[in-house]
Amino acid sequence: MNRPDEAHAKDEVRVVDAVEKRLFVDGKWIESSGGATFDVVDPSTGQVLCAVADATPADGRAALDAAVAAQPDFARTSPRERADMLTAAYELLIERTDELALLMTLEMGKPLPEARGEIAYAAEFFRHFAGEALRIDGGYQTAPAGNARFLITKQPVGPCLLITPWNFPMAMGTRKLGPAIAAGCTSVIKPAHQTPLSMLALMGILAEAGVPAGVVNCVTAMDAGGVMEPLIRSGLARKLSFTGSTRVGRVLLEQCAEKVLRTSLELGGNAPFIVFEDADLDEAVDGAIAAKMRNMGEACTAANRIFVHNAVIDEFGRRLADRMGALTVGRGTEPDIKVGPLIDEAGRDKVRSLVADAVGRGATVLTGGEIAPGDGYFYPPTVLTGVPRDAAMADQEIFGPVAPLTPFSTEDEVIAAANDTEYGLVAYVFTNDLRRALRVAESIETGMVGLNQGVVSNPAAPFGGVKQSGLGREGGAVGIDEFLETKYIGIAVSG
Ligand code: NAP
Repeated sequence: MNRPDEAHAKDEVRVVDAVEKRLFVDGKWIESSGGATFDVVDPSTGQVLCAVADATPADGRAALDAAVAAQPDFARTSPRERADMLTAAYELLIERTDELALLMTLEMGKPLPEARGEIAYAAEFFRHFAGEALRIDGGYQTAPAGNARFLITKQPVGPCLLITPWNFPMAMGTRKLGPAIAAGCTSVIKPAHQTPLSMLALMGILAEAGVPAGVVNCVTAMDAGGVMEPLIRSGLARKLSFTGSTRVGRVLLEQCAEKVLRTSLELGGNAPFIVFEDADLDEAVDGAIAAKMRNMGEACTAANRIFVHNAVIDEFGRRLADRMGALTVGRGTEPDIKVGPLIDEAGRDKVRSLVADAVGRGATVLTGGEIAPGDGYFYPPTVLTGVPRDAAMADQEIFGPVAPLTPFSTEDEVIAAANDTEYGLVAYVFTNDLRRALRVAESIETGMVGLNQGVVSNPAAPFGGVKQSGLGREGGAVGIDEFLETKYIGIAVSG
């Protein structure tokens, strides 16, 4: 494993030192009331980077109280004022891309170019929702009997609880905070314990951008459930927006039922990636690399089951294995690294056992599959072929750089196989036959389809899943509706 040279090591210390490690409540940085902290670890070395405040349930409550107190005034701000705050935050994110990307790579592991890409993607949510703040619409309608008018308006939902995962430490935050601020909602956000630093840096940026005290509050905690459950059950918050695993999403949905909170859930995926015999194989391999290797495979949108037509599976497998086998693995801060470490030991152990299970059931390793000795939680890019449909990885998110290829022979067969999962986030389809492309895209039970492309995420598009991949959409024109209530005012015009 490469160690940073002295100048780079100094940069790393500088960006970590520059971040506040305390809780952000009511516009102020405060220590945890319990005085405790927890460690943030660099997954490429296993070494501790720093410690951050470990919130208590009382700290969580103080954060929610601040959001509740700030809500009435914030709801009265003009759309232009809110748009200006988001635009200023967008500009600060772009201006500070290099430092924020380095911080993200240190706490999460993704290679620096990918981290820079995430900062740009994250910032784009603010620019997009700055526009949407100005387009919150309403209506005026004549009642069918003609004796009344309907005035239809939209209002902020109210104080929100936002919970984000570690895999996109900045973008999953801005994807929620952008529409919340645009709609006029206050919030308490809780990042994942593995990656709190990006979110803490974002709090400073939002304050600089003019977001008033109490509008956005951030609690970092090891005991996520202990801090968030009382807030969900308090009746003070009006909405929960969660991105994370389906397992935790189910628990939170039940908790939300008690006080009937509005919920948006962006949960796990098990994306099928389908290559038909008429596909452009170069394009399909490029698409598979993008859909599989973005974020080392630690993405809800990652291609998790790669179905390739019998006629082309050998050629496709050879080309994909050549490309994946050539990707350089290492510390994400080093030049030319394409694949960083996985998030932690448990994440790597899961990938290792899923590969062992598939091989035990008859899959063949085309490249990878062996962990090199050394520090950090690295797993090599791996291609498996002949993966049977009863392999454990066909049902579970791999969340690692492993591409499992499974052959198919007919369109009906592959559609049935693709839909044979509780998940329904995204599917990828590669074919040059327009009729088939539309037939398959319409038959697949997912919220999103990538047609001859391996990336679907775009702040201007409605992102989200069906089945047990979630509820609601983030981004696009509809993303702001998740944070708005529709109110109708009936006006009598005649006796
Ligand atoms: P996770 O374990 O579900 O955690 C997600 C967040 O929920 C973290 O902040 C976590 O905090 C918190 N959390 C855990 N248990 C909680 C509880 N009982 N009450 C309240 N909060 C709780 O998921 P993850 O491992 O961080 O992220 C990976 C998952 O996210 C994958 O399944 C992936 O597919 C999904 N994901 C989905 C999307 C999408 O848009 N559909 C996008 C990205 C990721 P702590 O970590 O501090 O415990």
